[in-house]
Amino acid sequence: MRVFTTVNQLQLFLSERRSKRKSIAFVPTLGALHRGHLELMAHGKDRADIVVASIFVNPSQFNEVKDLEKYPRPLAHDIHLLCTNAVDVLFLPPEGEIYPENMVIESPVDISELASVMEGPRRPGHFEGVVTVVKRLLDIVQPDFLIMGQKDYQQQAIVGMMIRKLEIPTKLIVHPTERDADGLALSSRNARIEEAMRPRANTLFLTLRHALDLMQTHSPEEIIRKCSEMIKNQGFRLEYFSIVDGETLQSVRTWADHHSVVACVAAWLGDVRLIDNLPLK
Ligand code: AMP
Repeated sequence: MRVFTTVNQLQLFLSERRSKRKSIAFVPTLGALHRGHLELMAHGKDRADIVVASIFVNPSQFNEVKDLEKYPRPLAHDIHLLCTNAVDVLFLPPEGEIYPENMVIESPVDISELASVMEGPRRPGHFEGVVTVVKRLLDIVQPDFLIMGQKDYQQQAIVGMMIRKLEIPTKLIVHPTERDADGLALSSRNARIEEAMRPRANTLFLTLRHALDLMQTHSPEEIIRKCSEMIKNQGFRLEYFSIVDGETLQSVRTWADHHSVVACVAAWLGDVRLIDNLPLK
């Protein structure tokens, strides 16, 4: 695996590969890699000749300084995982390479509608930071494919909208959520779940599956009420349980009016914030 820390070195390498008609799949990450991330890399390998991964803990998408400082950075372990998982290139930029001194940092596209719900109001500035860094990384890497996880449903919806609006010549591929055997969605934050709480950490997934079962007989509103209760009864502090249109992310009142519907949830288990989602339709 080749490791590059500067934009120039990376672009030199990639332009040489591109001139040999090699296609590129790109997987941006914040590091602290787990099997979920590695599955995205494997998906990239199926699609393209070269897989480029990036590890960049992007300050502009953290709305709380403490969260940024606490973010795990097990770099040696991450590099080992990438080397043993067929990743061709790791881009590991220092902050100055992504945000050079004179660069104007602003959201490249209006995300106000998609960011007005769920994670958006609870993490002010987060999605502006995400689209800013993803746009910058896409400009640098110019991949044929961008691979992202469905685990962060709202994130992939917003990035997809940006790619369409700005007519960026990259195809977004969304990989399904990878889970532990009991259904808990894999996340770098799971390591912080207290051992005593781990057996009920899959509650969000079980509740989402229950929502799917209830769909034939219940309205979205009734399901939200029942599922919210289930989650709270397991000792979670619920932030939201929403049933939304898969594209506009706006609340759904009836099943019939939407061709894609997703249930999304965020809740705290102890001091760990977990999110999950499941497409219902
Ligand atoms: P992160 O490092 O948390 O920004 O994640 C990098 C990418 O991995 C994002 O596209 C995430 O949606 C994706 N990802 C994180 N966890 C999972 C998972 N459990 N299954 C699939 N993709 C995931």
